[in-house]
Amino acid sequence: MKPPVYVTSPLLPPLEEFIPYLEELWQNKILTNSGKFHQQLEKELADYLGVKHVCLFSNGTLALLTALQTLRITGEVITTAYSFVATSHSLLWNGLTPVFADIDPVTFNIDPSKIEELITPRTSAILPVHCYGTPADSARIQKIADTYGLKVIYDAAHCFGVKENGTSILNYGDLSVLSFHATKVFNTFEGGAIICHDAKTKQRIDYLKNFGFADETVVMAPGINAKMNEVQAAMGLLQLKYIDSALAERAEIYNNYIALLTASLPELSFIKQPENVTWNYAYFPVLIHGNDSFTRDDVYNALRENGIYARRYFYPLISEFPMYRHMETAKPEHLPVAWDVSRAILCLPIYPGLALAEQQNIIDIIAQVVARGEQASFPAPLVVNG
Ligand SMILES: *Cc1c(COP(=O)(O)O)cnc(C)c1O
Repeated sequence: MKPPVYVTSPLLPPLEEFIPYLEELWQNKILTNSGKFHQQLEKELADYLGVKHVCLFSNGTLALLTALQTLRITGEVITTAYSFVATSHSLLWNGLTPVFADIDPVTFNIDPSKIEELITPRTSAILPVHCYGTPADSARIQKIADTYGLKVIYDAAHCFGVKENGTSILNYGDLSVLSFHATKVFNTFEGGAIICHDAKTKQRIDYLKNFGFADETVVMAPGINAKMNEVQAAMGLLQLKYIDSALAERAEIYNNYIALLTASLPELSFIKQPENVTWNYAYFPVLIHGNDSFTRDDVYNALRENGIYARRYFYPLISEFPMYRHMETAKPEHLPVAWDVSRAILCLPIYPGLALAEQQNIIDIIAQVVARGEQASFPAPLVVNG
């Protein structure tokens, strides 16, 4: 039996190149608390990403929690239910109330025209996601934030290296949060970062991620322990040497999918990469609306039976989970676009090393399910979205 194919596979540089970092650690015995690798990675990432300041974290979720603490966000926060559950969980952990706005049907990002009607005297921030690395409509979001005096924190977990008009989208808003989890484009096993735009904010974040210590005897806030350790940082430094080739390979795999889908399933249409955006090709989402004879889950199950583990990112919606579903804005009729997309979405495997023959196999399996469905019905609407 061939090994299973997962939706992603971690970027792992050659092991022998990791050993010298470990040898250095064993020598200098500084394992965490802003050691040499941590400091070096913050600098190299700021240069690579094109941002002012990077604050490294042990994972992206703690970075989200701390971003909200940094700006002293209170009351209600307008966000999206079409995301990974950590986006809203970070609000609950801060005692905040998520208020869900529906998404745009093209970008799958929060729909700016749905934000204003949700603002109340308790609203203090907007927490959008750049879903699949497609930039949210930051100009409109910022205009609303400026008008109503709200903070903007971006969940940019999908956005490593993404640029709009040649500039990093991590420069938008007050703060942006990255994830370096093993499943992401760039990984430090687990890891994350807050991107901020000035030195004072960086200092506050650095205190908050280290229990609130400002110096040996002064604690300025009930901070948390969310420090990235030196092994994680070393992984990041090594990985940076391979990230450009990994991103180039992802682009090639992405384009292969487009070509294969165009050849095998010509009735489908797909949205092209926006001209002014440099993507990272982190995901390959397909919309499979199905018809009376087959569903998205038939495709999902057919792939599984063949050892291919595509993922339904994002299904169910965050608003369907028990700690959210009682909320007024969690009702399906309030989020019709997100609801429909979550019922049709399927993310196909994409990662450096995925063979063209495997991509062909994946498309063939999908085409078979669609063909079976078509025998009883008219062509299935199938849309690929980036
Ligand atoms: C991965 C992810 C997170 C959580 O990051 P971790 O590093 O796994 O804690 C948060 N939000 C989104 C949208 C993600 O995809």
